Amino acid sequence: MNISVIGAGQMGNGIAHVFAQNGHSVVLIDLSRENLETALAVIGRNMDRQVAKEKMTAEEKGSALSRISTSTELAEGVRHADLVVEAATELVDLKLRIFKDLDAAAPDQCILATNTSSISITRIAAATGRPEQVIGMHFMNPVPVMRLVEVIRGYDTSDAVTAQIVDLSKAIGKVPVTVNDYAGFVANRILMPMINEAVQTLWQGVGGVEEIDTIMKLGMAHPMGPLQLADFIGLDTCLAIMKVLHEGLGEAKYAPCPLLVQMVTAGKLGVKSGEGFYTYTAGSKDLVVAPAFR
Ligand code: NAD
Repeated sequence: MNISVIGAGQMGNGIAHVFAQNGHSVVLIDLSRENLETALAVIGRNMDRQVAKEKMTAEEKGSALSRISTSTELAEGVRHADLVVEAATELVDLKLRIFKDLDAAAPDQCILATNTSSISITRIAAATGRPEQVIGMHFMNPVPVMRLVEVIRGYDTSDAVTAQIVDLSKAIGKVPVTVNDYAGFVANRILMPMINEAVQTLWQGVGGVEEIDTIMKLGMAHPMGPLQLADFIGLDTCLAIMKVLHEGLGEAKYAPCPLLVQMVTAGKLGVKSGEGFYTYTAGSKDLVVAPAFR
């Protein structure tokens, strides 16, 4: 299949990696050459890790990489696509504009999928003249490692398109699970309120950062506590998704915790800013609770 991936960030490079590894031709599209070079370097390094673990041979790596080409021009990059997977920045207006442009530039039969974590598939589909061919294909991070693909049907998504995306997901070694299009879908509808509740529990002084994370790790067999996971996802992303749940489902229980709001305002975004509930220093794997919570 000819697959175009829009956005070569954290998710886009992983999606391109997995499709190319499974024999598909990929055009990876981003705004600048620099972003695309960085993404190709990341894909190469991630494939090296698979080679070292004997999950891929050096030869397979070479041919997978040769199947990935790049472009900074959306219209040019999707001209021959059978499927487009959009993984650009999580901004509503940006995605609506991209889908309007895609509708004009991609072949008539092309399926338009989005990797959005929280934006309504139905709303994105409405920006196009082919809503029955628009679908959510929500990969998990890191894409080459995580097996789940949450497949989200918009209001108009056809059975045939859903079946094609389910089959394709299986063919690239993933486990697709199909759900309907309501705020947060299933994954974030359940995960984010849990994270928000952990922040609320901290804010109310019921327990400290380490206490909350240790209880959830050892008590619930979670691989990572909710506060550490929030740092990993990015507190700005967690806040944005809570706002989508609050607005979309209209219940007070989804209101973002004031501490989460304040941390994002203060620029404490987790791993990517160097501080969230923990502090992060390059080269160190130690988990150190941030000064505000000691
Ligand atoms: P990111 O910031 O790492 O990457 C986004 C990329 O999109 C950037 O390289 C940016 O330059 C590019 N971009 C922005 N506008 C563009 C345009 N008009 N055309 C082409 N490229 C453009 O973000 P990410 O974490 O990879 O997230 C991408 C999408 O995946 C979002 O919708 C996000 O909600 C979703 N998602 C993220 C995660 C996660 O854990 N990070 C998990 C599941 C889904």
